[in-house]
Amino acid sequence: MGASWTDLEAKVLAGERLSPDDGRRLFAHPNLPELGALADEVRQRLHPGRTVTYVVGRNINYTNVCWVQCSFCAFYRLPSDTSGEAYTLPAEAIFQKIEELLAVDGGGPVELLLQGGLNPKLRVEWYEELFSEIRRRYPTAWLHALSATEIQYIAKLSKLSLPATLARLQAAGLGSIPGAGAEMLSDNVRAEIAPFKETTAQWLEVMREAHRLGLRSSATMMYGSTDSTEDRLQHLLRIRELQDETGGFTAFIPWSFQPAGTPLGERLAAAGWQQASGFDYLRTVAVSRLLLDNVPHLQASWVTQGQKIGQISLHYGVDDFGSTMLEENVVSAAGTHHTDEMTLGEMRRLIASAGYTARRRTTLYAAVEPLPANA
Ligand code: SF4
Repeated sequence: MGASWTDLEAKVLAGERLSPDDGRRLFAHPNLPELGALADEVRQRLHPGRTVTYVVGRNINYTNVCWVQCSFCAFYRLPSDTSGEAYTLPAEAIFQKIEELLAVDGGGPVELLLQGGLNPKLRVEWYEELFSEIRRRYPTAWLHALSATEIQYIAKLSKLSLPATLARLQAAGLGSIPGAGAEMLSDNVRAEIAPFKETTAQWLEVMREAHRLGLRSSATMMYGSTDSTEDRLQHLLRIRELQDETGGFTAFIPWSFQPAGTPLGERLAAAGWQQASGFDYLRTVAVSRLLLDNVPHLQASWVTQGQKIGQISLHYGVDDFGSTMLEENVVSAAGTHHTDEMTLGEMRRLIASAGYTARRRTTLYAAVEPLPANA
């Protein structure tokens, strides 16, 4: 017999660590608002008050060339692609995107979420040159760049060890690492949805090495494809375990699989599968907040869930609204277009109308003061 809800509540309120069995009970708890209220208690303990943070930033998808063929991805084009849709942005095009971001921002620190495919033509030197030039030209732009998947491939392609690759990228200006590529940290699920991607252990190893070098990262979870609740639970426990070891994760960001235009979406739809609901998202967010007692921030994924669910998630343990995402190509390639509707002003309005004060932050969650006049 597991603990009752009252026992679970008491454990959370006393700040005790929850067990895997507690996690199972949380996922099965029928009263969603009750779960949200408990997650909100933890959020208030970690971040007292009514502030929700955000970062001003943009996505730059520097290449869509990728050989990995994840079945949930509608963004990539194969290296052999002849459709004319495969691209690698020249440095000048990347600089122009940064200048567009700086022009709308008003001068504060901004985040560049630079991610792309696994492009066999791009070795470590390409990134070193690009990163150092970005840092030289735009000192207020922080490079939150390259998923664990990309970093591991750059190392392989460049015939370097993982620590040496990370150290070179860091020396060139890499500031922190987005948690993308984690998908579901279960080798069974990975074998089904992304058989050529790195294993669970390899993803964790990139993060471990990065944290060891002082690079902070976020962690993500893409749920709602072929995964079970137990897979989600194990994913959370793996993140918690590594965080105990390194303390390098800044934030956790769960989102649900976006099926449109993807081979996996077609396959699952043919088998009668249904897309994860808003309720499922809120439950996953709340359980994440409760189980990940050592990860400081929980970020809303309004890009995938929409602005309204994003707002509601602020009452389910979320304390951060993420990036303004001036440009987003990966999720929108899978048919989800919430970024089109979001401006900086709109993000601040959504936070305010949910009952919170919006506060700008850096990628590493330092407060940015004073707020720019145009925010
Ligand atoms: S998710 Fe990333 S690694 Fe997988 S196919 Fe798309 S671009 Fe490539």
